[in-house]
Amino acid sequence: MIYIAITFAVLAFLNLYCSAVCQRLFYQSKEVAMVEKAQLAAAEISELDVLTPSAVSSSVNQMSSLKVTRFLITDQSGVVLYDSDPESAVGQYALLPQIVRAIEGNDVFTWDYHDGVMCSIAATPVVSYGITVGCVYMMEYDTELGALMKSLHQTILTITFILELLVILFSIAFAHAFSKRLGRIMNSMRIIQEGDYSHKVVMDGHDELSILGDEFNDLTERLQTSENKRRQFVSDASHELKTPLASIKLLSDSILQNDMDIETIREFVGDIGDEADRLNRMSQKLLDLTRGEAADQDTHEIVYMAPTVERVVRMLTTQAESSQIQIITELENDAPILIREDDLYQITFNLVENGIKYNLPGGKLTITLSRNEEYGILTVTDTGTGIPEDSIDHIFERFYRVDKARSRASGGSGLGLSIVRNMVERNQGQIHVQSTFGMGSSFTVEFPVFDTEAIDE
Ligand code: ADP
Repeated sequence: MIYIAITFAVLAFLNLYCSAVCQRLFYQSKEVAMVEKAQLAAAEISELDVLTPSAVSSSVNQMSSLKVTRFLITDQSGVVLYDSDPESAVGQYALLPQIVRAIEGNDVFTWDYHDGVMCSIAATPVVSYGITVGCVYMMEYDTELGALMKSLHQTILTITFILELLVILFSIAFAHAFSKRLGRIMNSMRIIQEGDYSHKVVMDGHDELSILGDEFNDLTERLQTSENKRRQFVSDASHELKTPLASIKLLSDSILQNDMDIETIREFVGDIGDEADRLNRMSQKLLDLTRGEAADQDTHEIVYMAPTVERVVRMLTTQAESSQIQIITELENDAPILIREDDLYQITFNLVENGIKYNLPGGKLTITLSRNEEYGILTVTDTGTGIPEDSIDHIFERFYRVDKARSRASGGSGLGLSIVRNMVERNQGQIHVQSTFGMGSSFTVEFPVFDTEAIDE
């Protein structure tokens, strides 16, 4: 609408301007011709000795054809001496404004255009020896010039109309295309508002709208990344929080249900305290992460793996017993490593728990610590279901579960091993798995040995 209004205003202005310029050109050419004709007639009349109607009339008759509609000659007081009109006004006063001004000594030209007819009037004084003695007045109805002006007006109007029509059509087409493309972006916004961050807006062309589309896609990509991170964070966090809570429940149940000596109770209560501390550290880490702060990096410690493994075993013994799994530990060959103790606990817990969950009644679970020059090695081997060969590459993926029914029944979410791998990697370790379907699996985790003696030397 704005385009149409602007072009309409511009075209209307051009239309008026062209018409005015044409009229001016016609006016000037007509003025020159008419005034010249009147001056020639006035020069002839001025040569007469006396201005009488008969003398003037005979002088006019000798003039070449004047081709005007009406031709008047008056004396200096405006009395008509000659009139070309059949209803002659000779002897009467003709005090027309043009005649009055001509008697005052001016060359006068006026015109009027109406209904395709141009009426032009020229009047000039008749001067004899420096004295105005009369006036020549000519009036001409020019239908030819009038028709020319009319057709010119019409042509300009037609061109204006066609141009405006083109502008309207162009504006409609342009507005339609523009709003269609804008609609595409708005539609994408709606889809993304509904939560589908993977949606991309496809904009062709190289204009501002396609740049907007690209920027929009960048934005949704970033949104998607942060949404994925948020989801991963929430699910990992709830999975990690589950472990200490389950341990606390298990330990307190054990204290309540079994007749224990005071030493064992003391040990179990100590473990409950440790789990509560771990829970506390986890919630602090979660708080730091939600505040956008990096998780505390300074909690790495040099630890031997055996105490952590023993603690995990203690936590899971009841679960193993109820599943009729025998846990065997070979922890003599321990090595010091630099690690976050909580991470080591979580890694061991997840691996041992899986070894129990995916084992068979009467099965075994062997936890071994060993070392070589470079690495401290934790191996968790079970005699359970094993992992099908085509699934081995996927078990560390988030939410991947081989036997969904069994995993769900045992409270699995498919997150445990992906958390384990993340923790192993962020502590500069490596994890490997060997498994034979139907026979059992063996998970090996290696961390660089942190030899304090080597440092001391
Ligand atoms: P879940 O919470 O389901 O146990 P994990 O990430 O810990 O998830 O494990 C992924 C999948 O790998 C499990 O669903 C299970 O099928 C398989 N898996 C893990 N550990 C073992 C194991 N020791 N023996 C056999 N299958 C295992």
